[in-house]
Amino acid sequence: MTARILVVDDILANVKLLEAKLTAEYFDVLTAMSGTEALEIVQRSLPDIVLLDVMMPGMDGFETCRRIKSNPATQHIPVVMITALDQPSDRVQGLEAGAEDFLTKPVNDVALLARVKSLVRLKMVTDELRMRAATSERMGLMDQEELVAETLKAPGRILLVEDQVSSAERIVETLKEFHKIEVISDPQEALVKIPEMDCELLIVSLSLNNYDGLRLCSHLRSIERTRDLSILVLVEADDNTRLLRGLDIGVNDYLMRPLDRNELLVRVRSQLKRRRYTEQLRDSVEQSMELAITDSLTGLYNRRYMEGHIASLVDKAANCGKDISLIILDIDHFKAVNDTYGHDVGDEVLKEFSKRILKNIRGIDLACRFGGEEFVLVMPDTDLSFAFMVGERIRQCIASSVFYVSVDNGSLDLTCSVGVACLEQLDDTPETILKRADQALYRAKNDGRNRVVAEAA
Ligand code: GH3
Ligand code: MG
Ligand code: MG
Repeated sequence: MTARILVVDDILANVKLLEAKLTAEYFDVLTAMSGTEALEIVQRSLPDIVLLDVMMPGMDGFETCRRIKSNPATQHIPVVMITALDQPSDRVQGLEAGAEDFLTKPVNDVALLARVKSLVRLKMVTDELRMRAATSERMGLMDQEELVAETLKAPGRILLVEDQVSSAERIVETLKEFHKIEVISDPQEALVKIPEMDCELLIVSLSLNNYDGLRLCSHLRSIERTRDLSILVLVEADDNTRLLRGLDIGVNDYLMRPLDRNELLVRVRSQLKRRRYTEQLRDSVEQSMELAITDSLTGLYNRRYMEGHIASLVDKAANCGKDISLIILDIDHFKAVNDTYGHDVGDEVLKEFSKRILKNIRGIDLACRFGGEEFVLVMPDTDLSFAFMVGERIRQCIASSVFYVSVDNGSLDLTCSVGVACLEQLDDTPETILKRADQALYRAKNDGRNRVVAEAA
């Protein structure tokens, strides 16, 4: 994982020190020695992260951060404020200026790299999301930035695994104002319960009695249901060995004891943000996939998807010497429904028609709306006579019960015509099979409709 990091500090020695540490980890480092210079570089080079000193002559770190965060072109760039240890109020002020995170001077290497890596990971996800959001907005879908902002308002669902009563009480006291938090003191119980719980963030003490909290963390990383859970560990001061092990295992972030109230709040907030962005992204990918391959009126696959998929299905069947059949269905005199009752009623019929098709086919069959009131079914492992039977079953299902539609006393008698063909010859392609099915349909229409015709080659 690499990224471009801008280091801002008015003291050259500080800049050089951070630059050396980050370069050693293969990050690209840019540097600036004042707020004004930093803003220029941020605008021009759009770094992945800004490490920003608070105390600088002229424009200080808070103001620089505020300006980065108020520019729509740069506000998504994470900012880590570097504050002096003896000024806890700096942290709050930094957060108010919009900083994602803060580190205290002298900067600890482990802390630095943990923060930077976790923010780079978060940013990769959000960059991807921003790109997709831009695409969906161009396509007239939803405004995703708004959606994400909305999900961030909801309280977090947090579970704390901690057996020290006073520590647990303090954490609950701090977080309960903004989040829903539950405490489990027995790690064995946590191990069993967590996979069944609907929680977003897990906070684990690494100072449990007779139990290694990292064991719980690594177990949760190894099972499917909890693999994406955000995990924050509570480490004893200077227990760097276990901290490094934790980061290795994939713990997302950590807090050193004694816990700082504000720091706890920020770490929790940034973990929730990370997780919700990821979830949002996953949903939006699923949604756009679905939009790309399905017909929005009926929910069946669309023609484009079928044409892509049918080729591989026919290929596979031909190569393995297996059967495959195609069925084309067309509603009889559908135009009359539109002409008499209107287009909306026509749409209702199309939906009900699709439902009846789905009721009569297997899971491995592919049902697609081919266009207008024409449907195609692709049926793997199915020969011509069996496909004919399925076609006949659907024809009966359409003709035998009325379609209820939303007009007064609205019920319509409808029928459909069906053409069937299958893979027969070595040189058959999806097109030739489809063509035979279409010829069969044409005959069914000509022979008086409401019937099934199978066409052999
Ligand atoms: P036939 O028995 O010969 O198939 O006659 P038909 O009236 O069903 O066929 P035709 O192809 O003449 O008309 C199909 C009609 O389907 C015309 C078109 O307006 C309508 N149609 C196509 N797509 C939609 C749609 O999405 N919704 C609605 N309501 N109607 C549609
Ligand atoms: Mg028709
Ligand atoms: Mg038609």
